Amino acid sequence: MTRRVLVVGAGVAGLATARALRGADFEVTVVERRPGAPLPGLGLNLPGNAVRALDALGVAEQVLAAGIPVTRREYRTARGRLLFAVDESSYWAGVAPSVCVRPGLVLDALGTGQEVRRGVGVVRVDTSPHRPHVALSDGSEEVCDLVVGADGVHSTVRGAVVATTPRASVMTTASWRFVVPNPGVDCWTAWTGGGLALLLIPVHAGEAYGYASSSKGGAAGADPRWLAQAFARFPTSARRAVEAALERGRAPYHSPVEEIRIDTWHRGPVVLVGDAAHATGPVWAQGAAHASTTYRRRRTGCRTWSGFPTVYLTTWLPSLAPAPTGPPTVRCASGPEPDPLSAPLVSGALCRRTAARLPAGIRRR
Ligand SMILES: Cc1cc2nc3c(=O)[nH]c(=O)nc-3n(C[C@H](O)[C@H](O)[C@H](O)COP(=O)(O)OP(=O)(O)OC[C@H]3O[C@@H](n4cnc5c(N)ncnc54)[C@H](O)[C@@H]3O)c2cc1C
Repeated sequence: MTRRVLVVGAGVAGLATARALRGADFEVTVVERRPGAPLPGLGLNLPGNAVRALDALGVAEQVLAAGIPVTRREYRTARGRLLFAVDESSYWAGVAPSVCVRPGLVLDALGTGQEVRRGVGVVRVDTSPHRPHVALSDGSEEVCDLVVGADGVHSTVRGAVVATTPRASVMTTASWRFVVPNPGVDCWTAWTGGGLALLLIPVHAGEAYGYASSSKGGAAGADPRWLAQAFARFPTSARRAVEAALERGRAPYHSPVEEIRIDTWHRGPVVLVGDAAHATGPVWAQGAAHASTTYRRRRTGCRTWSGFPTVYLTTWLPSLAPAPTGPPTVRCASGPEPDPLSAPLVSGALCRRTAARLPAGIRRR
């Protein structure tokens, strides 16, 4: 029997979900509040695990071709002294290469062949009837078998699962992002010191993606002149990037940095994915990975309807709980479905592999 799935939000999580469900007995509708096609956006640093997840969805090649490989990471002081470097290629060897890419290109790749109703938002989800009823901003209503809340950190769907509000990231409460002519960095380069952080990553031929924030929980004000003052004593390439970001006509993008931490990601036929379920601080560069890794396990053959949230939970990456001692568990329901929430939250294989790749200095801490 064909089941109706309503995916709310056409970001990485929503489009990855829609893509993963393609071909199975699901009739998938994606609604996206924003009108118009996605813009190129600024930069998305996709480590090897994100690219592997995109590979499982059949779009890694396209994404790799659109971005610049990240082969080395350099961590420097605010004065430019190299603290340590990470050979990113070795770190992710056997997983997938890392890349930095304009986010719109990832959305284009994931969304190819997927119809999206743009300019239509979800305003309410009512789960009291047998099947969820979803009220849309154009006055219409969708009745479906499963609602996937992929509607980001300020999710509306989340209200049907759990009552919570985003909390400010403990690492920084705000950030500035920009794309500028590359001022001379040839790899992922971060300068930190004095409570400030500036990151530059080559993102496109001749261009670098920049991320600037006040670290240690400090706030970066909304006035872009903060950037010029804050980074005035940073090394030349960092300063040149900031100057370019402040040039007339190239407004840097200011945003709060918020996190979502909740104990449950589904309730009955409503499941949360991506930032709606687990927004994390951008320093991990894991948002897109988590938003798309979620669905990888469909390849293991788990196709059952009620197995979906279980698959979701068991493939969550290892940051939330200690690794289980046994092998990773993916339950595919063939009889009565066990409670998905009793499934382990992490994949042991992923945990152990990730731990083994940590540079010794980091592993010791
Ligand atoms: C400063 C910063 C830098 C980051 N850098 C990186 C990075 O380098 N690498 C990385 O992997 N991650 C990064 N992240 C995190 C990453 O951007 C997110 O984790 C990821 O985009 C989450 O995708 P999503 O689809 O869950 O949510 P979103 O991208 O927020 O998509 C949600 C979609 O839902 C739509 N929507 C919202 N409400 C409704 C509604 N009611 N009805 C219909 N549609 C709705 C929105 O318009 C939006 O299109 C960064 C985050 C920040 C804040």
